[in-house]
Amino acid sequence: MPSPTFIQVILPLRLEWEPYYGLPEGVQVHVGDRVRVMFARKEYVGAVSAVNVKPLTEESRILPILGVEEGLPKVLPEEIQFWRAVSEYYLCSVGEVYKAAYPALKLDQEEVEARVRERLEARLERLKEKAEKARRDDTRERYKSEIEAVEALLRGEKPVSCAASVTLSPTQETAAETARKAFASGKTVLLHGVTGSGKTEIYLKLAGETLANGRSVLFLVPEIALSRQLEDRIAAVFPDVQVFHSGVSAARRAQVAVHVRNSSSYLVLGTRSALFLPHHNLGLIIVDEEHDTSYKQDAPAPRYNARESAIMLSVIQKANVILGSATPSLESLYNAETGRFVKVDLKERFHSGEEAEIRIIDTVAERRKRGMTGSFSRKLLAEIQETLDMGEQVLVLRARRSYAPSVQCTECGEIPRCPHCHVPMSLHRGPDRLVCHYCGHTEPYTGVCPSCQGALQPLGAGTQKVEEELTSLFPGRRIARLDGDTPDTEEAAIIRRFAEGDIDILVGTQIITKGFDFDGLRLVAVLQADSLVGVQDFRADERAFQLLEQFRGRSGRRGTPGRIVIQTREPEHPVYARLSGGSGDTDLLAERRLFGYPPYTRLVHISLKDSNEKRLDFLSKELRHALLAAFSGVDTPPAVVGPYAPAVDRIAGESIRQIRVSFPRNKALTALKKALASAVDDFGRERKYTAHIAVDVDPI
Ligand code: ADP
Ligand code: ZN
Repeated sequence: MPSPTFIQVILPLRLEWEPYYGLPEGVQVHVGDRVRVMFARKEYVGAVSAVNVKPLTEESRILPILGVEEGLPKVLPEEIQFWRAVSEYYLCSVGEVYKAAYPALKLDQEEVEARVRERLEARLERLKEKAEKARRDDTRERYKSEIEAVEALLRGEKPVSCAASVTLSPTQETAAETARKAFASGKTVLLHGVTGSGKTEIYLKLAGETLANGRSVLFLVPEIALSRQLEDRIAAVFPDVQVFHSGVSAARRAQVAVHVRNSSSYLVLGTRSALFLPHHNLGLIIVDEEHDTSYKQDAPAPRYNARESAIMLSVIQKANVILGSATPSLESLYNAETGRFVKVDLKERFHSGEEAEIRIIDTVAERRKRGMTGSFSRKLLAEIQETLDMGEQVLVLRARRSYAPSVQCTECGEIPRCPHCHVPMSLHRGPDRLVCHYCGHTEPYTGVCPSCQGALQPLGAGTQKVEEELTSLFPGRRIARLDGDTPDTEEAAIIRRFAEGDIDILVGTQIITKGFDFDGLRLVAVLQADSLVGVQDFRADERAFQLLEQFRGRSGRRGTPGRIVIQTREPEHPVYARLSGGSGDTDLLAERRLFGYPPYTRLVHISLKDSNEKRLDFLSKELRHALLAAFSGVDTPPAVVGPYAPAVDRIAGESIRQIRVSFPRNKALTALKKALASAVDDFGRERKYTAHIAVDVDPI
């Protein structure tokens, strides 16, 4: 009797190993094939990761596979290689990465092609309409060439990209040339360019060159809204661009995956999850707005950062990487300092114009002088009035959505809290209700204190209140709001209306600070900037600076300089000096080095959650001991801090504790991270506590 053949399979689960299965006689599989198997009495579709292996498990206990999934795309060996790299770095299982990469979905090839046609035909219609409406000759010409390209695609021809039409300015060309040289020596490029300097044009130029060489391009953006904004701009040059993010339907995403898999070279524009498409022949990865924290996935595992992961992918694909930002992350600046990256600076705007002027307003002093009307200082109101009178637009940032961040009883002082979380509930209007921003719990708002029946009073002002104030201060003006309460379906419309000048003042949360281009925007204002800088986190200053600098970049894009007005209780805060060109990145880096913070160390957060607080406290302390034991005898052991309760220590009925481990960045790092991971795994298994523990590498 021939001895049975064994294989290993990656399952979409948090498993520390890849289980073995037997092949029934006559069945053959290869690495990357998808197979149906039983695991712990449940059926899964896994990916074959090894064939003809000698099992370490007792052979008699190994189950045969149930069958081979012929209808599903095979996994490429380089995809598995990428999953392994991500799982090793982020201390999660390969199966968790597989699960993120391959959401279960079947699609047959013909259907895919039919739908692709439909989309192209729809695009053709839209372009024809636009071309008819176009008033200027050059615009009409541009549409005509796009129409030709789409028609070529419909005839099944590969379109000639219009990359040649990207003409760089001499400054941009110098930057591109430095980038090409860096690529040639195998380095990642960090493009540090002020807003409006033409980073996007440089990406497009390099992308065109890569495609012309027959290789593929992955263009990453941090958020869907930015993808939508870039889509048309990229499609104008590369009509065959494939868009991939969670706002695209699952069926369409599957089509993109099939397209990527079947094309010899392709261009994908997407958010972080686009990293997990079946990439091959990648020549260039672009990471736009590389500092953006949306690149990091919080939950579930893999808790990866697309910026770092893009570099892992580039190593496997032998692709070039360009990271770009007006406000690079300290992590990337550090990499530039150590020579791992080549930094390329673009200091001037393409449409020359001065940087936005900065005005800081001290709200404490203003209040004393009776210079405040609700959320606004008289000075800011005058600036808004002046801007509106000139027929230009205003953007107002208030970092908290809601009508009021909390409410308080005027009799007994009670602040109603969420029954499931340790946070005050926020007041939202229309209909009036109290909402928990952590778990979504909602209660009707009666204005009556639940404890003493006294009267409740709103505390502070969120975006809704600010909108209301503006409506009464500037009657007749068109005012709108964009924040987490705006339905997804309306978001794009609001942005479009503002871009087209149909809204005079737009109020919103951080959403409005992201890379949108608005020609008529002259004034951007920040209310209560303290809520940005006052956060208890060593990264708060870096974040606040990035946000304010990005926000400042929104104003006055073409020619005329814009203005940013910041209202704060703490005008002496160093972040404002930095914004005005005072202290720089070097100071922040020096500070990080001094205190042993990243990027000079590597952080791993372990968080534990449990509805039973006593058990949580006990087991968190036990885990700390297990970690100390795992690191004992090491030359430079990592520092283990905690367990401690985070600022919000109960969410959705579960209490939270954290342990922070900071590793020196030396040769032992990888081994020590591994030691941490196995200590956590062993602990979880022995205490049957695995589901309560999450490990986060390079937390945000
Ligand atoms: P960034 O990405 O750095 O914010 P953009 O690429 O969006 O800058 O450029 C800002 C503006 O300048 C855009 O309207 C863009 O079309 C224009 N622009 C930049 N470079 C060029 C160029 N080489 N030719 C024509 N227009 C350009
Ligand atoms: Zn809650």
